[in-house]
Amino acid sequence: MFRDVVKLGIIGYPLEHSFSPKMQNTALHYLSIGGEYTKHETKEEDLEATLKELINDRYKGFNVTIPYKSKIIPLLNKITDTAKLAGAVNTVIIDEDGNTTGDNTDIYGFWEAIPESYKEKIKERPVSLLGYGGAAKAACIALLQNGAKEIVIYGRNQEKAKNFLNFLNEKKGSLKSKTVISVHPTEDINLETSIMLINTTPIGMYPNNDETPITDLKALESSAKDILVYDLIYNPVETKLLTDSKALNRETLNGIGMLVHQGALALSTWLNLPEPPTGAMKLSVEQILEVRISS
Ligand code: NAP
Repeated sequence: MFRDVVKLGIIGYPLEHSFSPKMQNTALHYLSIGGEYTKHETKEEDLEATLKELINDRYKGFNVTIPYKSKIIPLLNKITDTAKLAGAVNTVIIDEDGNTTGDNTDIYGFWEAIPESYKEKIKERPVSLLGYGGAAKAACIALLQNGAKEIVIYGRNQEKAKNFLNFLNEKKGSLKSKTVISVHPTEDINLETSIMLINTTPIGMYPNNDETPITDLKALESSAKDILVYDLIYNPVETKLLTDSKALNRETLNGIGMLVHQGALALSTWLNLPEPPTGAMKLSVEQILEVRISS
């Protein structure tokens, strides 16, 4: 199918712990596509030079990660409407003529991973969310696009939280969304009516496996019985937040689904595949993390 070896990669700093190279290389192997996905750890002053290098080396595309998801935008020829909405690019496609298009597959990945029944329930009940960084942006844009009734954001820095609220209110206008959004200090968390709690902070991520963003168990104990606790972290596959929630018989979801879906969509756009190779990406992640992915 591909005459040359397909060149793909990732730009960020640092990239030491990035999961994408293993995941994408294993998926290429499962799809029997001759190609390589390489790491390009880049300091900010070298960002433009690295981009030019990848274009000259005839890369088909690359991922962009922390801290360049917004900083890469002015260096690209164009960005998709989705990336515009998110104000962030995590996937760049390079065409035959070396033109670059920035896209965002995190929004799709976040939403695809959610069980269908919960996708409906967010239209009737509040969704609570911890954090206001890049992953929170992707999650909130997906929630606004899909008609969430209410988003309640909890964070430790009220000034940053208010800036995030302003960002979302601006997006609400362009999406003609009626979602009610508010921000609160984390210690005021109340999950009694929430249908979903989403952790977008890195609290509980490896190697801090014994940490949790909800230290006061009473908040979880008094949460709605049918709440889905969705932690975007995928390493460990079960964070302390998820363990605590399971112990209280609450539904849980980790970040593996989001990781798989965002990666599969990126690969399909680079390779012009008819649909995201979700099966191959799941197999890849299962092999690397030594877990079974249920759905
Ligand atoms: P980010 O842009 O740095 O945002 C992190 C957020 O967490 C910020 O709101 C930050 O608040 C808050 N935070 C960090 N440490 C905190 C602490 N100790 N206490 C309270 N709040 C804290 O990072 P990101 O890109 O959004 O990533 C966040 C998490 O999502 C990571 O664990 C990442 O692995 C995960 N993620 C998963 C996927 C996936 O595919 N599954 C995709 C993207 C991200 P301050 O600004 O106040 O520090």
